[in-house]
Amino acid sequence: MNIILFGPPGAGKGTQSKYLVKKLSGFQVSTGDMLRNEIQNNSDIGKKIINDMNDGKFVSDEIVNSLIKNVVFDSKKRNKLIFDGYPRSLSQAKNLDILLKDSDQKIDLIFFLNVNKQTIMKRIEKRKKIENRSDDDTSTILKRYDTYMETTKPVLDFYSKNSNFKEIDGSLEIDEITRKINTFLNV
Ligand code: AMP
Repeated sequence: MNIILFGPPGAGKGTQSKYLVKKLSGFQVSTGDMLRNEIQNNSDIGKKIINDMNDGKFVSDEIVNSLIKNVVFDSKKRNKLIFDGYPRSLSQAKNLDILLKDSDQKIDLIFFLNVNKQTIMKRIEKRKKIENRSDDDTSTILKRYDTYMETTKPVLDFYSKNSNFKEIDGSLEIDEITRKINTFLNV
């Protein structure tokens, strides 16, 4: 199965994708983690993106799409992809469609974890204390939430017509969200 987890920062995509990875023996495809790795390794990409990431801005589609291409065509990960944080723009969603078609795969389920701004703020304040992420301060969180909502509205419209699009209340407790996700897995 290939699955997309979709929702604003702090919606619980990371937590649920880790659950799905275990349950389906899948591979988490987190563009946020991939980009943070580039920064940590001080790579050419890392140097290009560090300012945008710290400001809570989106990294260019060109960079993100190039990282994703390698993963989609990785034969070990075929039909075991759990997308967390990608696609985040219409151009990324269209790019993913093409990559999947070219590799003879498809998306089986799209989960939209819908959460309001107040819940997100509370959750990210908590995560900041645990993970100490440099993009988790209050003004950056607000910026990331607004950027996400603006840029991803067209992505929501793009996917919400599909019968495999499932909206879940992301303000529920973690276990309750997992239980709802499970009802759609049929495994
Ligand atoms: P995340 O860990 O998914 O919350 O992502 C952290 C940051 O990485 C975001 O605020 C963006 O700066 C960048 N990022 C992650 N995924 C993407 C993406 N698909 N497109 C553009 N920027 C991204």
